[in-house]
Amino acid sequence: MSLRLSFRRYALPLRAPVRTAHGVWTTREGLLVRAEDETGAVGFGEVATLPDFGTETVAEAADVLTKLGAQPTQAELDAVPERCRCTRHALHTALAECGGNTPEAAAAHLSVAALLPAGRAVLAAVAAKAEAGFRVFKWKVGVGDPADELGLLDDLLAQLPGGARLRLDANGAWERRTAERWLERCAERPIEFVEQPISPTARGAADLLLGLAGDFPTPLALDESLVHEGDVARWLGAGWPGVFVIKPSLLAEPEVALAQLHRAKAAVVFSSALETVVGARAALRWAFAWQGEPRALGFGVWPLFADGRFDGPAALPFVHAIDVAKLNAEAAWNVLS
Ligand code: MG
Repeated sequence: MSLRLSFRRYALPLRAPVRTAHGVWTTREGLLVRAEDETGAVGFGEVATLPDFGTETVAEAADVLTKLGAQPTQAELDAVPERCRCTRHALHTALAECGGNTPEAAAAHLSVAALLPAGRAVLAAVAAKAEAGFRVFKWKVGVGDPADELGLLDDLLAQLPGGARLRLDANGAWERRTAERWLERCAERPIEFVEQPISPTARGAADLLLGLAGDFPTPLALDESLVHEGDVARWLGAGWPGVFVIKPSLLAEPEVALAQLHRAKAAVVFSSALETVVGARAALRWAFAWQGEPRALGFGVWPLFADGRFDGPAALPFVHAIDVAKLNAEAAWNVLS
């Protein structure tokens, strides 16, 4: 097969700074990859790295792609290091698309979780999201003082529409004691799950997370714990009883982990890695192809970019498969020329 590969690097200003557990972002950097085969079929992929999650950096990815050159052999593609999994993901996606081999949608539409701001600002933000039709909400905790945040929980719950569910995401910020205090409070409240209460790098994190999951009724979700090759298999092997938050952009070959999760009948929530429309299209295809129980998507991130041509589907309460199919990767690629 004669393959032609090219890539373009981007540094896109965000509409508004994004506060993550690892700092504030004002610009998203990454790479788009374009593959074209001998028949003229074209496919696109995105390298949306999250180095704070332990992925390669954009510079490393650019270096790998530069070395691959315009006409890499299959052996050269296979030799891209495992630790460059975002790069592997982009290549895998672009080649699969080139070969007309993209995951089939199993659902016509999926609901989306509304992203709520951290801290007291949540109380002012929730009404507009509820009005817009959202029924699943996600609140970032572990940002301010835990006692202050805990004091806001009931005020927030009181503002949610009937039947709504709330997800809490601590991004690994809590100590064991703090996590226990929160989970005691959550026990009799409509909390869908608490995401990453303990950092994966905390001492004894795996045992601590399994212990908390066994001691409290509110389900726990793993996100930062699932970023290395084989993490999903390891947690399945450990009998993780909670939710798996899957960012397809961080998986070299998402179908491998997703097949393992499906076999185990695991609870899966698909989530964004702050991609452009190119990565969004690929990640959402995996979300729509999921054959297990559908859960609200963690893709309420767009509009994200100052230049809206790079945005994935707007943060509406639902995403439709036909809208994902319409996302235009080539247009975003052309903007970067
Ligand atoms: Mg998370």
